[in-house]
Amino acid sequence: MTRIAFIGLGNMGSGMAANLAAAGHEVMAFDLAPSALETAVAAGCVAAASAGAAAENARAVITMLPAGRHVRAVYQDEVLQRAPPGALLIDASTIDVESARAVARQAKAAGFRFADAPVSGGVAGAAAGTLAFMVGCDEADFPAIEAILTPMARTIIRAGDHGAGQAAKICNNMVLGASMIAVCEAFALAEKLGLDPVTFHEIASQSSGQCWSLTSYCPWPGPVPTAPSNRGYEGGFAVAMMLKDLKLAQEAAASVGAAAPLGAQAEGLYALLERLGAGGKDFSIMLEMLRGRLGGLAED
Ligand code: NAD
Repeated sequence: MTRIAFIGLGNMGSGMAANLAAAGHEVMAFDLAPSALETAVAAGCVAAASAGAAAENARAVITMLPAGRHVRAVYQDEVLQRAPPGALLIDASTIDVESARAVARQAKAAGFRFADAPVSGGVAGAAAGTLAFMVGCDEADFPAIEAILTPMARTIIRAGDHGAGQAAKICNNMVLGASMIAVCEAFALAEKLGLDPVTFHEIASQSSGQCWSLTSYCPWPGPVPTAPSNRGYEGGFAVAMMLKDLKLAQEAAASVGAAAPLGAQAEGLYALLERLGAGGKDFSIMLEMLRGRLGGLAED
């Protein structure tokens, strides 16, 4: 049994902390929201009075927070002050690469081992313990990080040095965001051309248009029964979350002078979707916008 601090018990963190407790670890939990803390205690965690108090005497500290500014503040003001020397610090939030590298530098300078370890798999994966972790860390630290992450994971891959985990996450989600738009555009066009969308799905799934957005997460209801399109685009991966990741990708591209024009277009289209009131819906609702069926624009 290892004493692990878990800070940030929201949609993702609550399931992850519960899986660590279920694996027999002593999980010292903290969240600013009292209701989140209560849920964690009900799942077998121990409530701490602050992030710093949770980190005290912990062998490992895991954070699952909204954005870079929260992560910088929690490490600078609390964790680096109170965690014991040599503790393993793992930030699983999705944040900007620069914040990840800055916290890693501070943590190393203070004598800690640090990893950025963002995840893919969503709330369902967090609850089920089947997340994919993309880890940026010193090579020598990876086995110890892997051991801590295992109860929450199906896949754990070292992406490279500090910041590489965040880089992998935003590059992957840029592909996903753009590929979903391409698939939605194709369905909207197929419909207008009088081609049965389900027949189009069958053909494209076996042709060069095949991709994850089409065959595992189809935005047209029917062909993939588990996809959010069958549930009125509820649950799944929210438009607002996709928008956050695409903004991070554009910031990262600008910081290194990389051209990512399709990512920029995708960011603009998801921003429009959010403006139309769909920020909380699954991102595959892009199909409804491209069919002219959102925001009072319905044609039929
Ligand atoms: P969330 O908003 O549900 O949870 C964040 C939690 O952090 C909240 O409970 C909040 O009270 C807490 N918090 C904020 N500041 C704090 C502080 N200073 N000290 C302690 N607690 C604090 O968000 P989420 O959906 O759980 O996402 C968390 C991270 O995971 C984000 O970076 C997100 O981009 C990433 N992520 C989310 C998903 C998803 O599907 N939800 C998927 C992959 C990655």
